[in-house]
Amino acid sequence: MTVIRLPTAQPPDCVLGARPDVTESAGAYRATGGYRSPTTRPDELLHHLEASGLRGRGGAGFPVAVKLRAVREGGAVPVVVANGEEGEPGSVKDRWLLRARPHLVLDGVARAAAMTGAARGYVYLSDPEAGARVRRALAEHPPPLPIEVVETDRTYVAGEESAVVRRIDGGPALPTAKPPRPFERGVGGAPTLVSNVETLARIALTASRPGLRRRIARSTLVTLSGGRGTPLLTEIPYGVPLRTLAAAHGTPDAAGALMGGLFGGLVDASGLDLPLEPGALAAAGTALGCGAIRFLAAGTCPVTAAAEAVGHLAAESARQCGVCVTGTAAVHGALRALAAGTAGPDTLANLTRWAQGLPGRGACGLLDAAAGTAGSLLRAFPRTLPSHLGAACPACAADLTAVGPGRLAVAVPEVSETPSSPSSPATPSARTALSAPPVLKGTP
Ligand code: SF4
Repeated sequence: MTVIRLPTAQPPDCVLGARPDVTESAGAYRATGGYRSPTTRPDELLHHLEASGLRGRGGAGFPVAVKLRAVREGGAVPVVVANGEEGEPGSVKDRWLLRARPHLVLDGVARAAAMTGAARGYVYLSDPEAGARVRRALAEHPPPLPIEVVETDRTYVAGEESAVVRRIDGGPALPTAKPPRPFERGVGGAPTLVSNVETLARIALTASRPGLRRRIARSTLVTLSGGRGTPLLTEIPYGVPLRTLAAAHGTPDAAGALMGGLFGGLVDASGLDLPLEPGALAAAGTALGCGAIRFLAAGTCPVTAAAEAVGHLAAESARQCGVCVTGTAAVHGALRALAAGTAGPDTLANLTRWAQGLPGRGACGLLDAAAGTAGSLLRAFPRTLPSHLGAACPACAADLTAVGPGRLAVAVPEVSETPSSPSSPATPSARTALSAPPVLKGTP
């Protein structure tokens, strides 16, 4: 598992916060405008969220105001769930956020409850350290509604919204067939808002910083890893080219990237000219997802990268849907065979067929991610693949020796409970090498 570095200081209107390496206290949060008694009424806030265009940060990127309205109009007293279960191996932002800024998330839960009329809330997570910080924050600043912390085991699918509901209701953290979706019938049968913790943090910031609503909606946390640099968690405005992010991460000569955790597929080196903006990425056939981007170092073969990603997905299949079990295994087997130089003549045709035919056939998006990764490899690297038929690729051979459990994982930054000194930066720990924040200009 790799370590991660954080920018040293951010303005308080960023989700990243003024001191990303120290858990923010209730007093510090209040001092920067947090928990401000609602000068913005819930209806007004909903209107502002709609006008700003804020979208969810969990992966699907759904418009926040639309989801809030659907829950509010669900016909029964709703429930709000802060979803901090982060199953993508290359993402750390949600666990970091709960460890470092629990009050910002809890403020977001309270404001979402006010907008939807919810009478109770949950914080759903798998990171025990984050759970301890959230429980402490609840004791430090009692919320205006009952909020319970529910823990689960960390798996790729445990944060999928129907799995969240199932776990909170006492079952296993496994997806269910849809419909109904949680906004229709969720926890205890009530309309339920399952919202990513960064989304809720941005709702709270939208309420407390009226002059910055558009900027809050058009910036995002990203976890950058892979390549030759040290993993980096940072907050950037939309519009920054992926190539600029690659350089900030320490891989200026990246050969491409694995986008959106394991959900956005591969882009080649020319794809790094794309701006980090959900619409532009979707139009190019990729996705921002949860904001995790894994760069491919120069000389890395994308076939091994795809095989490694799909291998992780196949291992994480919840094994509820037969098509997912056989489909992810088949795609992984074909990619492994390509990487090893043992693929048969039908391999590319099979991958093409699976990339087109498998999406949408599982109860959750895991099978789509596996098929999408194969499809993106075929689209983005068409000239690379034929040379893998019947002959071992030297780059793959070198990469395959490094593939192993945990290579896609990134460690959550260490967040201390108290600053080492009120006026000086915390001493970098062995696992958190602090550095100056990259200067990135987007299109706010
Ligand atoms: S698609 Fe796969 S991971 Fe998703 S619920 Fe079905 S078996 Fe589980």
